[in-house]
Amino acid sequence: MNVKNNALKEEGSELPSIRLLLVEDDEDDYILAEDYLKEAYGSNVDIFWASNFDKALELIAQHSFDIFLIDYMLGEKTGIELTRTITSNTFVVNAVILLTGLDNREVDIEATQSGAMDYLVKQELNASLLERSIRYALKRKRIEEKLIALAQHDPLTGLANRTKFNLALSEKIQQARRDNHQFAVLLLDLDNFKDVNDTLGHSTGDALLKITAKRLNETLRGIDMIARLGGDEFSIIAQFNHVGQGSAQIAERLIRELSIAVELDYHQIKTGVSIGIAIYPHDGVTPEALLKSADLAMYKSKRGGRGTYRYYDPEFELELTQTKKLQDELQLAVESNQFELYFQPIIDTEHKKVIKAEALIRWNHPQRGLVGPAEFIETAEKNSMILAIGKWVLHNAFGHCVEWQKQPQLTDVGVTVNLSAHQFYDEDLIAKITKAIAKTGLDERHITLEITETTLMENADDIIERLNTLHSLGLDLAIDDFGTGYSSLAYLKRFPVSTLKVDRSFVSDIEVDDDDKVITQAIINLGQSLNKKVIAEGIESQQQLSTINEFGCTHIQGYYYAKPMPLNTFIAWVKDFN
Ligand code: C2E
Ligand code: MG
Ligand code: MG
Repeated sequence: MNVKNNALKEEGSELPSIRLLLVEDDEDDYILAEDYLKEAYGSNVDIFWASNFDKALELIAQHSFDIFLIDYMLGEKTGIELTRTITSNTFVVNAVILLTGLDNREVDIEATQSGAMDYLVKQELNASLLERSIRYALKRKRIEEKLIALAQHDPLTGLANRTKFNLALSEKIQQARRDNHQFAVLLLDLDNFKDVNDTLGHSTGDALLKITAKRLNETLRGIDMIARLGGDEFSIIAQFNHVGQGSAQIAERLIRELSIAVELDYHQIKTGVSIGIAIYPHDGVTPEALLKSADLAMYKSKRGGRGTYRYYDPEFELELTQTKKLQDELQLAVESNQFELYFQPIIDTEHKKVIKAEALIRWNHPQRGLVGPAEFIETAEKNSMILAIGKWVLHNAFGHCVEWQKQPQLTDVGVTVNLSAHQFYDEDLIAKITKAIAKTGLDERHITLEITETTLMENADDIIERLNTLHSLGLDLAIDDFGTGYSSLAYLKRFPVSTLKVDRSFVSDIEVDDDDKVITQAIINLGQSLNKKVIAEGIESQQQLSTINEFGCTHIQGYYYAKPMPLNTFIAWVKDFN
């Protein structure tokens, strides 16, 4: 037979040359199939034969094939199992045609479900049927490959997408493990991209992303991979001789290039980029671990003021984990009532009377025992936890005050409550306060709110309005930790606050440090000249008390008189004192 001439050809065109693996345990059946293939393809087919399952896997590992012809029965194993194995990788298309001895629907369904593209009944086999089936399978393979390629690209920027990135990262890890190499994963996040999107619209945002992709391509020639992971997040895989030095240089270059302003829609847009870097294998040996490390490093660089890069730092991760743990515990503490208020008397030394008490929160931690606010208020401030805690404090401080005012010696003793910055800016603050007042029935005349000087001066213009509202509710306002922030006198005059609380740090060294003595005196004088009441915090000794009194300050809070106390101890203490 002249195979060459007999070969089935499409009109006017040579059939493409194909490499085929025929898996067939019956030699006669193999020879028959080989004949048909030669008849159809002539010398344009390169046929490999595997007579069993294991031999097939061996050949597959050594060569790449365009098409697989697999017999349904393979001794102990089935062709279905083999088909499943070689079609299991979602990102590689393997065209499989199953050959069966039987023609029934069950086999048909089983074949398709296993990933085969077609199945042919051996008895019906001939050259043209085989050629046709192969042609369709190859066509389908090409289409599927195109779809996979599309599914791995970001249509907006043309960069690889997250799917492709993950794949490339897995491959890179395998390769680096084999060759004992290090490489870097850089995670980039544009700074202020959200603002561009929000103020100039999504099409401008899209244009900016395209420009960013172009700049990345230009800056990073020869780099292993650049991908857009989503939103304004990009990632890079790069290998260097010196991974530390190389990645730092690249990060610096990127920060420089990406911070150059672009003109879009007649706007000069200037965004920067924050970069996190993770190194294989130090910072992770799996794609997930490396990306997580790069992500933490990126978060660190955002926190470090944007427009910078940071390497993964396990201590930072530990800190974040601890913060998260503390926040979870605080949530539980709010829900299960683990907080308690202590009260510290504020004394008018001239009249020897307790005029009010500062409510100071304590946490009865189930394992750690009594925990002071220094250990958790700052963390609670970082998320909205402080709002829940603050609400609890308002209700309980007011409620307890109503309680103690029922005692004859305490009828006029008011309560002063600390408000953190977050609480102070809370839109619902006024509603929360009025609700707490309504619920407890405390007369607003007896309420003081303490706001630290730092909080007040951070945003002094916005704050006046808020202070005025609180003041108009009849509440008394005090500036806490006075002397530690940078008050402007102009504001101090305009703020409707009645009281300044001189920070403890000035008082504590008053006996040994002349500067502190002078400053304390100056602060007291300043307060008085502004017509404010002045309370000195942290008085611990008789000497400190006399000095402060000499300066003309008679309102005192401090251990010299009393430490903060639980409610009942406090009530008993005041009864005795007043
Ligand atoms: P602060 O408002 O300046 O409260 C005064 C702090 O000084 C209290 O510490 C008090 O125990 C301490 N203190 C008073 N007199 C003396 C003294 O003579 N010597 C010494 N060494 N310390 C004295 P505490 O209770 O640990 O509270 C620390 C800070 O935590 C408070 O400072 C306040 O800023 C914050 N805080 C306390 N309770 C709350 C609360 O309910 N809400 C908010 N947002 N913050 C609170
Ligand atoms: Mg205070
Ligand atoms: Mg204070």
